[in-house]
Amino acid sequence: MSTVSKVFARSIYDSRGNPTVEVELTTDKGVFFAIVPSGASTGVHEALELRDGDKSKWLGKGVLKAVANVNDIIAPAVVKAKIPVTEQLKFDEFLNSLDGTPNKGKLGANAILGVSMAVTKAAAAAEGVPLYAYISKLAGSKDAYVLPVPFMNVINGGSHAGGSLAFQEFMIAPTGANSFSEAMRMGSEVYHHLKSLAKAKYGQSAGNVGDEGGVAPDISTPQEALDLIVAAIKKAGYEGLIEIGMDSASSEFYKNGKYDLDYKNPNSDGSKAITGSELGDLYADLCKNYPIVSLEDPFAEDDWATWSGNFNKLPVQIVADDLTVTNPIRIKKAIQEKAASALLLKINQIGTISESIQAAKDSFAAGWGVMVSHRSGETEDTFIADLTVGLRTGELKSGAPARSERMAKYNQLLRIEEQLGDKAVYAGKKFRTASQL
Ligand code: PEP
Ligand code: MG
Repeated sequence: MSTVSKVFARSIYDSRGNPTVEVELTTDKGVFFAIVPSGASTGVHEALELRDGDKSKWLGKGVLKAVANVNDIIAPAVVKAKIPVTEQLKFDEFLNSLDGTPNKGKLGANAILGVSMAVTKAAAAAEGVPLYAYISKLAGSKDAYVLPVPFMNVINGGSHAGGSLAFQEFMIAPTGANSFSEAMRMGSEVYHHLKSLAKAKYGQSAGNVGDEGGVAPDISTPQEALDLIVAAIKKAGYEGLIEIGMDSASSEFYKNGKYDLDYKNPNSDGSKAITGSELGDLYADLCKNYPIVSLEDPFAEDDWATWSGNFNKLPVQIVADDLTVTNPIRIKKAIQEKAASALLLKINQIGTISESIQAAKDSFAAGWGVMVSHRSGETEDTFIADLTVGLRTGELKSGAPARSERMAKYNQLLRIEEQLGDKAVYAGKKFRTASQL
């Protein structure tokens, strides 16, 4: 029975150069590290990410309070409680009881999640199995492992880049590949073609990248972005084998009941803002003209009626991110209201691994897909790669096939695929129903 002898947290930096929490947890099996990611286009209903707010240091973004909450409150309590690390649910319930609020507002989700992730890693070591295998057991997943379709974000807009493009993410999804490693090669080739095409069409600065490693040409319409991607797929020779996903992150440009696609223009007077129904028509048009298979956050986080009202117009996977924030209560509501058909699973939106697993299970039970996701502020921690395989979600997004905080997850999936050999299948075209495969 492996229990925790020491927990220690420190402040380090994420991919955007902002402070974040790292936890070091010690058991008889060794020392286990976990680093917490951080979003930019965060949903208002997410669990609380505790920031110091002291503007004289890190512009208010310090995490010294969250670090102190781990070292002064969580660490002594956890060491004293002696809960076996293999009892994840009990452990996470204990962490939540130390916090005592519905949104982890006292200790901070960033303090709690770091410990919860490290416990899962320590438990895998206690059982002597890889992390993905342990998570598979914890979640009660079916036997054969599934490698996900990587949704690679090759054009960055919205709050993740400069320029005037309102929609945040344009992703390539090699659903026609035969394996995960082939999907990565195809994605890498398309990414490089895309960079050359963007520079040739929009000038050298169009090759500059945004927060998730995708190029960020100064274009303003989704059609321009999609045309570039289609041209790059064609140039690489993968027409029909690579499809497209988008994340509009539309809560960012929802103002006064309308959607302002010109929101990044400092001179915008809001006169170009459109209604939810008009935006739904725009998506329907895009789905007709481009090989789109997935649309995330097409509408804003509390604009429930527009989500449900447009659902039947859109013949693709509709992914809820800010709408559901990996929170079982909001997921239940979205299922009841037929607002979406897939969950975006971000572990720091809810703050423990048990609750993240539950969110995936609730979604699967309703026939939804589940896409595991990184945050725009990422780290070298590869936890979500193992989580994706352990939960058999069949889909994950971890940014462009570039920049090490993004590649860390894809590279871990390459290792897992190699390790599993014949024991794993690639989700491919069946990514939406991978949990049933
Ligand atoms: C997203 O919106 O899906 C995303 C990854 O961005 P962020 O981490 O900024 O919320
Ligand atoms: Mg999103």
